[in-house]
Amino acid sequence: MIAAESAVGTVSFYVNGAWEKPQGREMQPVTNPATGAVIAEVPFASETDIDRAVTTAHEAFLKWRAVPVVDRVQVLYRYKTLLEANAAELAAVLTRENGKTKDDASAEVRRMIQMVEVACGMPSLMMGDSLNDVAAGIDCKTVRQPIGVCAGITPFNFPAMVPAWMWPFAIACGNTFILKPSEKVPLTPTRSIELLHEAGLPAGVLNLVHGGKEAVNALLHHPLVKAVSFVGSTPVAKYIYTTAAAQGKRVQALGGAKNHLVVMADADMPKTVEAIIGSAFGAAGERCLAGSVLVPVGDAAGPLLDLLVKRTKSLAVGDGAKSGVEMGPLVTGDHCKRVDGYIDKGLAEGATPLVNGRDVQRADGFFLGPTIFDHVTPEMTIAREEIFGPVLSVMRVNTLDEAIDLVNRSPFGNATAIFTSNGKSAREYSSRIEVGMVGVNVGVAAPMAFFPFAGWKNSFFGDLHAHGKDAVSFYTEQKVIMSRWF
Ligand code: NAD
Repeated sequence: MIAAESAVGTVSFYVNGAWEKPQGREMQPVTNPATGAVIAEVPFASETDIDRAVTTAHEAFLKWRAVPVVDRVQVLYRYKTLLEANAAELAAVLTRENGKTKDDASAEVRRMIQMVEVACGMPSLMMGDSLNDVAAGIDCKTVRQPIGVCAGITPFNFPAMVPAWMWPFAIACGNTFILKPSEKVPLTPTRSIELLHEAGLPAGVLNLVHGGKEAVNALLHHPLVKAVSFVGSTPVAKYIYTTAAAQGKRVQALGGAKNHLVVMADADMPKTVEAIIGSAFGAAGERCLAGSVLVPVGDAAGPLLDLLVKRTKSLAVGDGAKSGVEMGPLVTGDHCKRVDGYIDKGLAEGATPLVNGRDVQRADGFFLGPTIFDHVTPEMTIAREEIFGPVLSVMRVNTLDEAIDLVNRSPFGNATAIFTSNGKSAREYSSRIEVGMVGVNVGVAAPMAFFPFAGWKNSFFGDLHAHGKDAVSFYTEQKVIMSRWF
């Protein structure tokens, strides 16, 4: 079980069905962002550690792939029941190391469970096609087979859900898996895998290692790793994609974002403001789906900003573990400083602050309140770069066409939303916009386990998206079998 805050424990690796505390490795502290206290230490895996984990996973693969899919998913059914029973505790672990509010953490665990539920349907999802008499007396069918050891490298912002975009699908398909979660939040994956162990997953099918670049590079270069799933920032996503693809591996690498929220003058303003608050400041803006540029069209700006500024100033910022808190701290002190640096840039480059997050800075913990800048122009740093914090830039335009041009000029294409009561504007926007996930009067087009999920442009490198049917294609190889019987 995970150590209490008073007893700082070392996080373990989980290899071949056993928990082990490696000695003599580089260690990094894990902090509670609401207090700044160190709550655990995480060991960084070496190349040798990774080789052992991959070799174990490969040996397990040779047995696991032969287990009938209907039996493989029984573990996931048991896991789902355990997750339901332990959801509140898992959410509390998540809040303690990531900082997001209790409600956000519970919603994340709920989405994680949905991923497991969909992967439980693998006997149907994995079915192939068949056609009799493709020629006289010849029948043809496709089968899907697992590909081997798969690796997942995940970010700090969704330590319960994002790993579940990957491994439940991978192992249900008959693969084995190495998870390397973010070193900033290793406790949630640890608790998740403790429950999986309890569900009775055979040894070696899923292995958990921790670390940074050395561990990742060892995975990218290991000949027995056949596929790599990555979620994180764009520069690392691009590096993972190019490096692993050059090693002949299958890769899906989901990157960073700069998401625009377009508001038409005919939008329902009170409801739109609530959606913008959730999108821009939910999880302290540390979401790849966070709205970070607000684009009011024409007359929308006046009424929208009046309401939005009032509501933003009333937002309850504090320890996410406490009831009534609407926005928690940022994940680490370094990240908090980095986001704070963007407020400096916004001011220096001439944007107009409507709300300044520094007004709610607190002594303990990594807190920064919500910030809104108006009159942001395309060349400003805060308009171009992913901030990944509670900073919203307002870029006013006159027409829907201008809004579409502005969004399509962005090098990112992860998510966007339009707020309007006009079906034609919504349809026009949804069809012309070069973005992977589009919300219509929805501020966060959240990942649905049964649909695929990924951005476009610099927000995604690869072709098969995360979860849904794409995950089945990503984690299997298709084979065509043509037969004739004499
Ligand atoms: P990150 O890129 O810093 O780290 C992600 C993972 O990569 C971690 O496991 C980390 O240990 C590893 N890593 C970091 N630097 C590396 C390097 N140089 N070489 C090899 N591995 C390295 O991302 P983060 O700060 O943990 O997460 C935030 C980012 O993730 C944001 O950019 C956000 O937009 C993105 N994100 C994207 C999605 C999506 O669906 N597109 C979802 C969640 C988060």
